[in-house]
Formats: sequence, C-alpha cells, structure tokens
Amino acid sequence: MKSYRKELTFNVRTRRAFINITPDVEACLWESSIKEGLVLVNAMHITASVFINDDESGLHHDYDLWLEKLAPHEPVSSYRHNVGEDNADAHMKRQIMGREVVVAITDGKLDFGTWEQIFYGEFDGRRKKRVLIKIIGE
Ligand code: ZN
Repeated sequence: MKSYRKELTFNVRTRRAFINITPDVEACLWESSIKEGLVLVNAMHITASVFINDDESGLHHDYDLWLEKLAPHEPVSSYRHNVGEDNADAHMKRQIMGREVVVAITDGKLDFGTWEQIFYGEFDGRRKKRVLIKIIGE
C-alpha cells in the first residue's frame, strides 16, 4: 500500500470565505500516483472546515447568511469563549460545516457524486492556516 501526505496553506484576507480546493486535491492525487484508494482532506484548525457541496456562488452566500443566523459574530461579548479573543462564532460555524471529507479514488480520479466539489471553509481568517491531505491506496 502506498501513502501520501501533504499540507496546503491558506491565508485568507477576510474573516470568512469558501474556497474550492478540488484542483489542489486532484494535483496531490496525481502526484501520489495512487489509482485506487481513499483521500482524507481535513482542516487542521478548529475555526475552519472542509466540506463537499456545489460550486455555486448563490449557495455560498446562503451558507454565510445561514451560519451568521446560527452563530452571529456580533455581539462578540455574548459568547463566554470570547475572553481575550473574538472567534467563538467561528468554532460553532466549523462544527456545523464539519472538519473533514473522505473521497473514494477510482481509476486515478476522485469518485464524486453529481456536482460534488471540495471546499475549504474559513471562519476566522487573516492568518496562516493549514489543510491536511492524506491519500492511501495503490
Ligand atoms: Zn477560540
């Protein structure tokens, strides 16, 4: 069995963002030369997510509004976690959107369902953050 590991780095200029990282994962898969197996992609921070859904800007806008309703950033003082920091909402947004995804690899390709793409969800940006890609198979 072969195994491959890589970290992607992001430094998003805004507090929140959704980034399609499918091309990055495909590049890693090509580099790994693994044809059959599994790829795990996970955020290495507790205020960011990796998730799978449609690459549609209206949907991403809707996600942002929905997450802000569930866990508004302001007022910062309404969260107990926000003693010396202001990112309690980002922890909650990450919890809802998830930590990681696993995708099957078949014949050297990501074996997606219809319209599926992999996204990095940033909820407390403006600093360097990492995503882990781990591929196993042969
Ligand atoms: Zn925090």
